[in-house]
Amino acid sequence: MKKNIILMGPPGAGKGTLAKKLISFGLVHISTGDMFREAIKEGTELGKLAKSFIDDGHLVPDDVTIGIVKERLSKPDCENGFLLDGFPRTLPQAEALEKLSKEINRPIEVVINLDCDEEELIRRVSGRRVCKNCGAPYHIVNMKPNKDGICDICGGPLIQRADDNEEAMKVRLQHYVSQTKPLLDYYAKLGNLVSYNSLMGSDKLFDEISEFLKK
Ligand code: ADP
Ligand code: ZN
Repeated sequence: MKKNIILMGPPGAGKGTLAKKLISFGLVHISTGDMFREAIKEGTELGKLAKSFIDDGHLVPDDVTIGIVKERLSKPDCENGFLLDGFPRTLPQAEALEKLSKEINRPIEVVINLDCDEEELIRRVSGRRVCKNCGAPYHIVNMKPNKDGICDICGGPLIQRADDNEEAMKVRLQHYVSQTKPLLDYYAKLGNLVSYNSLMGSDKLFDEISEFLKK
């Protein structure tokens, strides 16, 4: 079973949804977006700083983001494998991760890229709802909850993320194209990149990727 995985792809490609399925393999899910949203909810200094970038669709500065990932990846529960979702997003982050993962002897084994066209991304993000309590993802058309506006898992209210609006989404896509997409070349050169078309839907995607990870 492959472990120590990076999930890459534009906002709305389905990284979070896939990650939540893959944790059934015992991998620890590390989402920098979730970590920032948690800090915002708790009103910490980190949260206040992160919010000023996130709501408009900008990236949180590298030193801050690299710092929280370093701390998280060094924890004992990552020993059996981790799944990075939303990190790295810039070249300095990727370089810091290369260095760190070697230092702590937890090298990245595979980078999974989820491809998706821009029109579909915008459709997905504008219809996305998340549970206010547990963060579970839904979509008003594609992934409806059993009961409108209520989380199937915990019964919490479903809300729209502050950055899931048209303006912020445009900015997020620009950051993706200029800063994150070039990392695909970086990982292709390192030789551990695989790509999947996320248009196949989350169940099929999970089946195919599970098969690949088990090999
Ligand atoms: P999505 O993949 O849908 O854009 P995420 O939950 O991964 O959403 O991230 C939400 C926001 O959190 C990003 O738009 C960015 O502002 C911030 N963020 C998350 N990860 C990083 C990162 N690695 N570097 C900088 N900012 C980040
Ligand atoms: Zn919930």
